[in-house]
Amino acid sequence: MEKVLLQACDRYEQTGLKDFFLKGLQTLGLRVDKQAVLLKPNLLSSKPPEKAVTTHPEFIRALTEILLDHGCQITIGDSPGYESTSKVLKNCGIMNIIKYYGLTISPFDLKIIKKYDGISPYKQFTFGEDPKDYDLIVNLPKLKTHTMMGLTLGVKNTFGFIHSLEKARWHLRAGQDRMLFASALIDIHSIVNPHLTILDGILGMDGDGPSNGRPRNLGVVAMSTSAFILDDAIEKLVRLPHPLPITALARKHGIIKEYETAAYGSPVIEDFRMPNTMATDWSIPQPVKTFLKNAFVKKPKIMRAACRQCGVCVKVCPAGALSMRPDEPPVFDYKKCIRCYCCQEMCPEGAIRI
Ligand code: SF4
Ligand code: SF4
Repeated sequence: MEKVLLQACDRYEQTGLKDFFLKGLQTLGLRVDKQAVLLKPNLLSSKPPEKAVTTHPEFIRALTEILLDHGCQITIGDSPGYESTSKVLKNCGIMNIIKYYGLTISPFDLKIIKKYDGISPYKQFTFGEDPKDYDLIVNLPKLKTHTMMGLTLGVKNTFGFIHSLEKARWHLRAGQDRMLFASALIDIHSIVNPHLTILDGILGMDGDGPSNGRPRNLGVVAMSTSAFILDDAIEKLVRLPHPLPITALARKHGIIKEYETAAYGSPVIEDFRMPNTMATDWSIPQPVKTFLKNAFVKKPKIMRAACRQCGVCVKVCPAGALSMRPDEPPVFDYKKCIRCYCCQEMCPEGAIRI
C-alpha cells in the first residue's frame, strides 16, 4: 500500500530535517545512489524565505547534503512566474547553496513536446525540461494556499515543467474552469511522474496565497512517492471539509486509492485560513457560467496606493483583461477577465486584492 509520512517540525534545523529525510527514504524503500537528480522546488517569484513563497533554502540544503553523500549529481530548476530562474534562486536564498555545493541550474527553457493521453481533453504539452534526462526527480513543493485552486501542493508544483511562455496559454485554455485546469495539472504531473515528493510546510502560507498570503509557522513536513496521496493527507491535516479539485478528480479516476499515513510528533494545523475567494464551478452551459462568473465570482481589484506601475500583471494576464496608460495603475476589463487570479499571484507589491 502507498504511504505518506508526516512529521511535526517547527524549525529549519539541519539534523532534524536530515533525520526525517533519511527515515523517509528508508520507509518508502527508495534507493539513492550516484544518480542524476533533479530538484524541483517552488520558485514562483523573487521573495526572501521569510515570505514563504518559495521552498526554503535550508530545506534544500539538508536534502542536498544527503544526496551528495550518496554520490548524486544535482540539478535544481523551475520556470518561475515571470522572472528568470537565476534571479529567483538568488533572491530566495537558494543560489548560495548552489554555489557552495557546486550544483547545476536548469532554467527550464527547452521546448519539448510531450504527447499524453490522460484524463484531460488536452493531449499535448510543451515542457521546459525533460524529466527523462534524470534518474531521480524530487518534487519540493511549499505548503501554500492558491486563490484559484485552493492549495498549491505536490501535484500543482509540477506545473512549473510547462514552458514559461506556454503557462499563460494554459491558464486561458483551462483556467476558466477549476476542474478542467485540475485535469490538465494531473496529466502534467503524470508525465513528470516524480519519484519522490517532499513538502516544505514548516513555514507555509494561508489566506490569499500563493504570493501575497499570510506566512505562518505551520510546522509540518511530508514525504511520499505519490504527490496525490501527499496532497490528500495535507488537505485532511488543514481540515478541509471537501477535497479540492485535484484530489477529487484523482479519487474519481482511481489515482488515489487506500493509503497509509505515518505521522511522527503529532503534526496539527489549527485555524488554517483558505483564500478569501475560490472560483466556482457549475454544471451549466458555458455562456450562462460566464455570465454568473462575471456577476458573482469575486473580482480582482487594484489597491492604487500600493501599485508601482511595473506592468507585471498586464504581462501575465492570459485573457488580455488588463491595460495600462502611462503613469497610471492598470485597469481591468471584467468582461474579459476569467478570474484566474494570475495577476494577484504575480503582483510583486501585493497591490491586487480579491
Ligand atoms: S498592480 Fe502590481 S503588478 Fe500590476 S502594475 Fe501595479 S504593482 Fe505592478
Ligand atoms: S485580470 Fe487577473 S484574474 Fe482576470 S484574467 Fe487577467 S490575470 Fe486572470
